[in-house]
Amino acid sequence: MELLDGKFVSEKLKEEITREAAAVLATTGRKPHLVAILVGNDGGSETYVASKMKNCEKVGFKSSLFRYDESVSEAELLAKIEEINKDSDVDGLIVQLPLPKHIDPEKVTETIDYRKDVDGFHPVNLGRMMRNLPCFIPATPYGILLMLEEYKIETSGKHCVVVGRSNIVGSPMSILMARNAYPGNCTVTLTHSRTRNLEETVRSADIIVAAIGKKNFITADMVKDGAVVIDVGINRETSTLTKSGYKLYGDVDFENVAPKASWITPVPGGVGLMTIIGLLKNTLASAKKEIYS
Ligand code: NDP
Repeated sequence: MELLDGKFVSEKLKEEITREAAAVLATTGRKPHLVAILVGNDGGSETYVASKMKNCEKVGFKSSLFRYDESVSEAELLAKIEEINKDSDVDGLIVQLPLPKHIDPEKVTETIDYRKDVDGFHPVNLGRMMRNLPCFIPATPYGILLMLEEYKIETSGKHCVVVGRSNIVGSPMSILMARNAYPGNCTVTLTHSRTRNLEETVRSADIIVAAIGKKNFITADMVKDGAVVIDVGINRETSTLTKSGYKLYGDVDFENVAPKASWITPVPGGVGLMTIIGLLKNTLASAKKEIYS
C-alpha cells in the first residue's frame, strides 16, 4: 500500500501557485483576490474558511472575509454578492455552505457571477464541465484529479465507483472520471443511498471515491485487493485527546482497508488539503483570465 499524500502534493503545488501569483502581481500590479462569505457560527465552516484564508496569504493572494450573523436576510446576502460581482478587484467569490434554512442555496449559487465562481458550483460551470469546456471545476473533485495526476495513477479503462451523489463532490466526480481525458476515461458507477447491492458494486471497483459523510462506511470486505481508495469524508467527533477538542475521521475504515489498497488517501492529510489547492488554482486561473476573459 502507498499513501496518496495530500500534505506532500499540496505543499508542492502551493510552491508553484506562489510563483505564479508573484508573476500575476509583477504583470498586473495586483494580487489574485479571493473573497469568502461566512454566515453563522458553524464550527466546521469556521475552520474551513479560516484555512482557505490562511492558505491565500501563504501563496501571496489577497483574501477578504465577510461575516454575517445567522439571522441575515436572503436579500441582504444576495445584494452583497451582487456588489462583489461588480468589484473588479475580486477574482473569486465563495459562499461557505451550509447556509441557514431561510436562505436558498440555489439562489445564492446562481447569483454569484460564474466568472468568479471559483467553487465551480454555478450551473454555467457545471454545464461547461459536462461538455469538457474550460471552466471552474468544483474544488474537491479538482483536488482529487490533481492528486491522481501527481502520482500518475492509471485511470483509463478502470471501473470507478463513486459513493455519494452530492452536487459538490459525488456527481461532478463521476462526470470527471468518465471524461475523455486524463485523469478520466473510467467506466463509472455512481452510487447513493438507494443503490441496491452497494457492497458488491464497491467490491468490483478499481478506484473507489467515498463521499458519504459516515465514519468507517467503507469496510475492508467491500474493497478489492489492489484498489485505489479516495476518501473524501470528513467526520468530526469530539475528543478529549486532541488540542482542538475534536478528531477527524474519513468514510473509509483506513486501518483495515489500507493493507488491501494499492493507493489510499489518509484523513486528515488527504483530500481536504487538495480541496484548498483546487480553490487556489481556480482563483489563480480567474486572475489570469485563463477561463473567462
Ligand atoms: P452529502 O450529505 O451532500 O451527500 C452524501 C451522499 O452520500 C448522498 O448522495 C447520499 O445519498 C449518500 N449516502 C448517504 N448514506 C448512504 C448509504 N447508506 N449508502 C449509500 N450512499 C449513502 O455530502 P457531501 O458530498 O457534501 O460530503 C460527503 C462527505 O465529504 C462529508 O463527510 C463531507 O464533510 C466531506 N467533504 C469533504 C470535503 C473535503 O475537502 N475533503 C469537501 C466536501 C465534503 P442520497 O443522495 O441518496 O441521500
